[in-house]
Amino acid sequence: MHAGRYPGAVLIDLHTHSTASDGTDAPGQVVADAAAAGLDVVALTDHDTVAGWPDAAAAARANRIALVRGAELSAQAVFEAEGRERHVSVHILSYLHDPADAPLAQECERVRTARLDRARRMVDLLARDYPVDWDEIAAHTEPGATVGRPHLADALVRLGVVPDRSAAFETVLHAGSPYYVPHYAPRAVDTVRRVREAGGVPVFAHPAASVRGRTVPDDVIEELADAGLAGLEAHHRDHTPDQVDHLVGLAARLGLLVTGSSDYHGAGKPNRLAENTTAPEVLERIEDMGTLAVIRS
Ligand code: AMP
Ligand code: ZN
Ligand code: FE
Ligand code: FE
Repeated sequence: MHAGRYPGAVLIDLHTHSTASDGTDAPGQVVADAAAAGLDVVALTDHDTVAGWPDAAAAARANRIALVRGAELSAQAVFEAEGRERHVSVHILSYLHDPADAPLAQECERVRTARLDRARRMVDLLARDYPVDWDEIAAHTEPGATVGRPHLADALVRLGVVPDRSAAFETVLHAGSPYYVPHYAPRAVDTVRRVREAGGVPVFAHPAASVRGRTVPDDVIEELADAGLAGLEAHHRDHTPDQVDHLVGLAARLGLLVTGSSDYHGAGKPNRLAENTTAPEVLERIEDMGTLAVIRS
């Protein structure tokens, strides 16, 4: 036993989104809400950007909550299955990496640009059947934010086409819909290596979440572990109890950390802050591996 940097009952949520990507609340608001929800530590992990870090850091100090600076990186796992090459969209969380690391920052920018182009193309397709308008969507999007389907979902909600984001994802914005357009994303093994080279700690977000589409087999996770993956986000609302058990076992076999988090998106998703949490010993390991410190007030 060790005393630890986090004595007593400590609530840690390592995955949230703000208006810097596709959450509905400003970064500082997410952090303030995390403190109000009783969390002791929160990570801000916007998609493919660190733009929310300064606002989140100021709010962490003001609200006496610790902040883990992170990001959720869009990637794709490429593997062979039943004689076919498969490309599966995956998300790699990066914690405590150097934001000035050029290869990682440039790759994030490349993905954000590809996402913007993809959003415009989806709007063009949607405009054939719905009165969506790119300028109207842009006016509702934080300047420089990482644009995703949630921004299009919100436009469809404003038009009364669907009642909420989730309904949009189940219908018009679903990956199988005729309006869906994919976007560029680097290979997950390369993302894991880049995060490590930037001094970050890579954790596979919701590895078994089939609601997002196809998932990857265990041997792909093993390859990512060989490339430097540090952990699996096993405790996540998109996993069944059996999947959680399986991922916890796999993590033990591969020597990976196990995390849990809410994947909070504000009002955009039912996920509530602190609904899944990470053990303090795991956060200590993450902090020891990362190049940045956890911000403590
Ligand atoms: P995209 O990355 O643009 O393909 O859009 C998918 C992202 O939308 C995922 O990363 C989800 O986190 C996010 N999202 C936000 N709200 C919802 C929702 N209600 N249902 C599904 N996905 C959502
Ligand atoms: Zn998201
Ligand atoms: Fe994700
Ligand atoms: Fe997420």
